[in-house]
Amino acid sequence: MSKIIVANWKMNPPTLQEAEDLFRASAGAIVCSPFVYLEELSKIKSGAVLGAQDIAFSDEPRQTGEVSGEMLKRLGVKYVIIGHSERRWKLGESAETVNRKLKLALVHNLTPIVCIGEKVRDESFKKFLEEQVAATFASLSAGEISKCLIAYEPVWSISTTPGSKPDTPDSAVESISIIKSALAINYSLLAIRYLYGGSVDSQNVGDFISKPEIAGVLVGGASVDKEEFKKILDISLNV
Ligand code: PEP
Repeated sequence: MSKIIVANWKMNPPTLQEAEDLFRASAGAIVCSPFVYLEELSKIKSGAVLGAQDIAFSDEPRQTGEVSGEMLKRLGVKYVIIGHSERRWKLGESAETVNRKLKLALVHNLTPIVCIGEKVRDESFKKFLEEQVAATFASLSAGEISKCLIAYEPVWSISTTPGSKPDTPDSAVESISIIKSALAINYSLLAIRYLYGGSVDSQNVGDFISKPEIAGVLVGGASVDKEEFKKILDISLNV
């Protein structure tokens, strides 16, 4: 069975032409593009599925600079990243805001790709993950949570973090089991697909996706390098 590959382009590429070229080369992936390219990309039949990187936290229209779930839906967007660490920690997005965005994504029938991950791997990281899980999924039903993809993305492994290095597949699986147990306390037998994200490239992707507990990967930096991403897709979609 092929694995799930999510491309998080972040604030790349610089031009629409490059975005279209990259999107055409990303067949089989879920491509989370900057808002400004979504409309044009939605016209391209490339075999890639469209995702967004964020969603407004309320449907109230008086919100400068925000983009609603309904607008995304109309553009053919199917997925949305929720609670990415760059938004939580660089832009100060609170757990309450993340929780509101998650609920609204579900209201608009967008599949949330919910990012969970500790800032540092120290003796309290388990507690950190448990608390983040509780705050992120607060007051959601088991049925709602099972519609989500959960991306375990330790902040220290993300390529833009100074001194970053990828997690190991075994330790990512251990963290996924902590997240699973934290959810199970409230919701018992939940069938959820978990992704790993953090400095994934064509050299290490095979090791991550060989783990049955890891349903796929979320790729940042390497997803905007056309040749490198093609290699990642070739490895991941043919397992
Ligand atoms: C990300 O930002 O979600 C990510 C996984 O980035 P990178 O692959 O560049 O570490």
